[in-house]
Amino acid sequence: MNVARCAAALLTALMLMSPATYAADGAPATQAGTVQTTPVQAEQDWQLLLVNPWNKLPEDYTVELKKLPNGLQVDARIYDDLTAMLSDCRKAGLRPLVCSAYRSSETQTRLYNNKIARLRAAGYSKEAAIREAGRWVAVPGTSEHQTGLAVDLVASSYQVLDRKQEQTAEQKWLMEHCWEYGFILRYPSDKSAVTGIGYEPWHYRYVGRETSKAIQDSGLCLEEYLTALENAEKNIHTNENQETAKAVS
Ligand SMILES: [Zn+2]
Repeated sequence: MNVARCAAALLTALMLMSPATYAADGAPATQAGTVQTTPVQAEQDWQLLLVNPWNKLPEDYTVELKKLPNGLQVDARIYDDLTAMLSDCRKAGLRPLVCSAYRSSETQTRLYNNKIARLRAAGYSKEAAIREAGRWVAVPGTSEHQTGLAVDLVASSYQVLDRKQEQTAEQKWLMEHCWEYGFILRYPSDKSAVTGIGYEPWHYRYVGRETSKAIQDSGLCLEEYLTALENAEKNIHTNENQETAKAVS
């Protein structure tokens, strides 16, 4: 049996039964890769890579990049779904724009250090500047942009990264349809305590079509989904062990 698929089915059943039992408590979720159980699942592991303030990207992480028409780069494996989504968005009469995609570790470090320097120049102490910078720019190693799986999408007519972005027709379309292409809005307004990142109605993350649909249907964020998946798999293994015990007794 395909354990991953079975776990997904069990997860759906669990969610229907009692949503409260797997509600996240803000604790760090599963490490990337720990949900690996079968070759099929292993193939999809890259889609479930978890990078957040508590889960740093491995220092030796490498990614094969592919260039978008505007010169920015993404993980080559998400290229087709991303361009299909943007193309369909344009067909709906809209003008989405990729304003940020893959960032190297060096770029992330530069952005982070620049933010600290600006805060220091504005009078912040070193400690306060570091603390404040972390609220706005991800600490190097903890940004999803370093994975090549995340993009910031904005409306051509409104390119500011602030809350008003959610009111653009482009974001409304993307929020409604992104899951059809394997993407999720990664930092929803009501999940900041779990994701560690404030509401970002422009940051989309590729997780694959199976997971994006499960996340869309469940209302979980990625951290919560991975925790629920891990728990569902534990249940399967427990049930399997019980079956085995019955068979030999
Ligand atoms: Zn972003």
